[in-house]
Amino acid sequence: MVDVTRIVIIGGGPGGYEAALVAAQLGAEVTVVDRDGLGGSAVLTDCVPSKTLIATAEVMTTFDSSYEELGIIVADDTPPVDSPARVVGVDLGKVNRRVKRLAIAQSHDITQSVTRAGVTVLRGRGRLGAGGQAVDGSREVLVDAPDGSVQSLRADAVLIATGAHPRELPDAQPDGERILTWTQVYDLEELPRELVVVGSGVTGAEFAGAYQALGSRVTLVSSRDRVLPGEDPDAAEVLEEVFRRRGMNVMGRSRAESVKRIGDTVEVTLSDGTVVEGTHCLMAVGSIPNTAEMGLEEAGVKLNDWGQIQVDRVSRTSAPGVYAAGDCTGVFMLASVAAMQGRIAMYHALGDAVQPLNLKTVASNVFTDPEIATVGYTAADVECGTMDAVEVKLPLRGNPRAKMQGIRDGFVKLFCRPGTGIVVGGVVVAPRASELIHSISLAVDANLTVEQVASAFTVYPSVSGSTAEAARQLHIRKRESGES
Ligand SMILES: Cc1cc2nc3c(=O)[nH]c(=O)nc-3n(C[C@H](O)[C@H](O)[C@H](O)COP(=O)(O)OP(=O)(O)OC[C@H]3O[C@@H](n4cnc5c(N)ncnc54)[C@H](O)[C@@H]3O)c2cc1C
Repeated sequence: MVDVTRIVIIGGGPGGYEAALVAAQLGAEVTVVDRDGLGGSAVLTDCVPSKTLIATAEVMTTFDSSYEELGIIVADDTPPVDSPARVVGVDLGKVNRRVKRLAIAQSHDITQSVTRAGVTVLRGRGRLGAGGQAVDGSREVLVDAPDGSVQSLRADAVLIATGAHPRELPDAQPDGERILTWTQVYDLEELPRELVVVGSGVTGAEFAGAYQALGSRVTLVSSRDRVLPGEDPDAAEVLEEVFRRRGMNVMGRSRAESVKRIGDTVEVTLSDGTVVEGTHCLMAVGSIPNTAEMGLEEAGVKLNDWGQIQVDRVSRTSAPGVYAAGDCTGVFMLASVAAMQGRIAMYHALGDAVQPLNLKTVASNVFTDPEIATVGYTAADVECGTMDAVEVKLPLRGNPRAKMQGIRDGFVKLFCRPGTGIVVGGVVVAPRASELIHSISLAVDANLTVEQVASAFTVYPSVSGSTAEAARQLHIRKRESGES
């Protein structure tokens, strides 16, 4: 008789459901326990809803920012270029209904494909049993079902993929109407007239840009010198410049202390006493891992000071037989990384060939307009000496396709090793940068040289032509410095 490995996965987001699919394909008996619905926060409240909202915003910005230049006539009384008068508007209730419909449909599709693969899905809250590892090496997972019953499961390996939830400030409690987290904005029927976004990381910047495009007057409160402190500085500078040019009030070095609702308005008080008023406030001040009251520490799973589960590059925790993936580990808070960590955990647990997680090949994107896509080593790595690399940055205003499309902002930046010319990273700031980064991502993953990137055909005219041109310029730089 063949032994079947029992896998229990707590959390059905990308970290959990992708792992479940892999484990089922490898012949394991798999159970996923999820509290809210498969797809997790990624599908139900975070990634999918925000990108669906941004899809509407993107059409609005593309139109608003280029129709004049491209010769489009909207009405007899088309406003002059600098006029704040808008030519298109948005029905936010309709947009939000579409957002929710798509999210639920995607969760449904995932549930179908997971159950079709033979995975058992249980609705409830999962936690580790108090008993630690049994003599046969298995672990107990307890499931608190919505009806109050508790079910006990035994597993040869457990994967924790419980994600994270929005962080709240004690003096800025969300009410779901005027003071909102990013999970609550989809209940709005009307566009916020004046939206104050607190937090200028990726989530804050994406929502600030989106609501401004949809027609809100936006103030972005950033505690740092500039928006997107974790991104490429040149890219952040372009975005901040674009935000300001479009009329956003970007307040740098301003820390929000409290947010109060007063009737139909909100007052955001900053640490220097300044009060910023608006009709709504969106809090985007980070997230907290869902790791509390799960019996983790009792089972020997080490957490760091932020409550994130500590894992190695094959997703093992400090407790034998317990793996963790995704936002609850805080390794790199992206759906793609969560999914990869989950798959890696299953390859490892089930004895399949496994490649440890390599964060230096992760491609990520900020879905603003323009988008900012990044892969591999960054300017910060070069500056602090983690990587010895040379860079070339080509502004898009020199790109023929960009000129035709009326695109003025953005660039392609490429980093390569000075001696070998191997491409180690890149940044694209452009509309649809998320699509354009793939060639650089491929080059980084496959250790391609700038010569190889330069020799591949690109379409003329195309924005991706700038990637090949950047590679050619890096090749010339290498020749001039006598390195080839
Ligand atoms: C606004 C926003 C936009 C984003 N956009 C992108 C993007 O465009 N691209 C990208 O790659 N990433 C994006 N992210 C990040 C991405 O959403 C996360 O990295 C991803 O959701 C992590 O997946 P996960 O599986 O770790 O957790 P989640 O998706 O959070 O899923 C965890 C699941 O576990 C469940 N759960 C929690 N505790 C328990 C328990 N005890 N028992 C049972 N179930 C439990 C939760 O209910 C949830 O269903 C975005 C994040 C935010 C906040």
